[in-house]
Amino acid sequence: MVQAALKNLSYLSETDAEIAKLIGAEQQRQENTLELIASENHVSPAVLEAVGSCLTNKYCEGYPGKRYYSGCGNYDEIEALAIGRARKLFGCNYANVQSHSGANANLAVFFALLEPGDVFASIELSDGGHLTHGSPVNLSGKWFKPVPYPLIYDESQPNYGHIDFDALRRVCLEHRPKLIMCGYSVHSRIIDFAQFRSVADECGALLLADIAHIAGLVATGVHPSPFPHCHVVTTTTHKTLRGPRGGMILTNDEKLATQIDKAVFPGNQGGPLMHAIAGKAVAFGEALQPAFNEYCRQIVTNAIVLAEDLMARGYHIVSNGTDNHVMLLDLRHTDQELSGHTVSTWLESAGIIANKNTVPRDSRSPFVTSGLRLGTPALTTRGFKEPQIRHVAGLLDRVINSGGHVDAIAEVNDQVKSLCAQFPLAY
Ligand SMILES: *Cc1c(COP(=O)(O)O)cnc(C)c1O
Repeated sequence: MVQAALKNLSYLSETDAEIAKLIGAEQQRQENTLELIASENHVSPAVLEAVGSCLTNKYCEGYPGKRYYSGCGNYDEIEALAIGRARKLFGCNYANVQSHSGANANLAVFFALLEPGDVFASIELSDGGHLTHGSPVNLSGKWFKPVPYPLIYDESQPNYGHIDFDALRRVCLEHRPKLIMCGYSVHSRIIDFAQFRSVADECGALLLADIAHIAGLVATGVHPSPFPHCHVVTTTTHKTLRGPRGGMILTNDEKLATQIDKAVFPGNQGGPLMHAIAGKAVAFGEALQPAFNEYCRQIVTNAIVLAEDLMARGYHIVSNGTDNHVMLLDLRHTDQELSGHTVSTWLESAGIIANKNTVPRDSRSPFVTSGLRLGTPALTTRGFKEPQIRHVAGLLDRVINSGGHVDAIAEVNDQVKSLCAQFPLAY
């Protein structure tokens, strides 16, 4: 019944036809397009119910058992469940589930661990880092001092596209950062947390892993855990973890946990989004089920199949493949004239949604770019397995090869629609 109400938007269509119409259109778009944006996913109907519930009405500033408002009893239990499930899922002692987003989680950790002007090490946005890892336009780059560490850029090297640990060590011994960040928005290789920790110990830094992208893979052991190597772990809950939009901070260190709780509230947030925290609890409960393990394994299998199929068709993928859910096509190898912007626009016309992305050492701006980022979490949620993924690789190739020709795009769009109809979403 609730699903039907959600789908029909029965209340909203009576009271606000404009918004109801747009939500309906978005539902159709999600139903009829192939979602290859690596940071997006489709939550379960259960998560959607929790997020759309009456919990949005309540102020719960504080933490379970220590609230500033009356009437928080149910919320204490909900947040305690979210925390308990998060700890179980990631095998750690402390979880703060109140961060509104991944960016807020990183901000809280900076606020907890650093003073303005402190040095931290991270990789740059153009090499696969995140805005909140020290971009000059972000608070992390304006109020703190990021020092970048590089990738191995040389395509003839066996570890091309991996982290350059020798350079990381040199950079850290020279600049003595207080914090080293690992974990990225576009990186296709397993992160060697132990190796990061040995550099952190050598230069006296704390180690922060931002597992926003790979959280689901980490939770299921498909990617190694940042614990016990990292002092603090931040994540989003809406990417491979397949929960509602939000953030979370994890640690095993009691003292750091206290500092982090204070940095989230009252440090940089007011009332927690309790409907989102309930959605997180539901998603964590789902992620603890054996089926989620299968799901995460399939995400990686699908990504490897997609990367191998595209490479067999002559495309260049940064680091020559993938170990996780994401890959970055370097279009300069296909055609110097081709930009990520152009290709993503052609693909969108064909019903394939993927984002343009800078490639390492890109000469084009972030609005144009020379790369295309592709990820398999959302298609895997739809039920796609190897045969459908190979079909998708063929469709991507057809669109790119056609140079954006209208007939090719129309033909591909027909196939996209029929694939989508065979694998409907759950709502
Ligand atoms: C997505 C992402 C974030 C930010 O998440 P938001 O919820 O969009 O704020 C932070 N770090 C990394 C590495 C990410 O990929």
